[in-house]
Amino acid sequence: MAAAIYAGSFDPITNGHLAIIRAGLVAFDRIIVAVLTNPTKSPLFSIEERIAMIEDEFAEDRRVEADCFEGGLLVEYARSKGVNVVLRGLRAVGDFDSELQMATMNRNLAPDVVTVFIMANDYFFVSSTLIKEVASLGGDLTGVVPERVQQRLAVKMAPRAATG
Ligand code: ADP
Repeated sequence: MAAAIYAGSFDPITNGHLAIIRAGLVAFDRIIVAVLTNPTKSPLFSIEERIAMIEDEFAEDRRVEADCFEGGLLVEYARSKGVNVVLRGLRAVGDFDSELQMATMNRNLAPDVVTVFIMANDYFFVSSTLIKEVASLGGDLTGVVPERVQQRLAVKMAPRAATG
């Protein structure tokens, strides 16, 4: 059974991520969405919240599993899961340099682990960082993030708006 790891911060998951996962399911039987606990970034949502948001979107689809990836080498994490494909999304030329670097380094570390890229389509302009910025300014994110994520963003931003 062909499986892939799709790792990232997912703070929060966006329709761009969902499009990559859905496209990935055309090629893979199973996708593990690995939520990175990066201590150098201060996330808006906790790991539990980020995992819950992913699970909400795939409650009916057992091919997608959300997991927590607590740092270390991604290729080691993939191996520990018995998976040898890393799935990545490519948005724009800007993504290319760092993705090429990372994929090449991972290939050096683990030649048995392959990185597969899927090109972004409708959501090429969407990043979690931009989503958080727009949400903090009260912008409407309909169609850009799932409805439940939009609701969670509103709850997170409400105390900030109150304190200015
Ligand atoms: P990171 O914290 O490494 O930026 P993200 O959680 O933002 O990770 O993204 C994880 C993966 O999803 C990366 O491969 C990234 O390029 C891809 N990705 C993020 N947003 C989009 C999008 N809108 N369309 C396609 N791919 C995306």
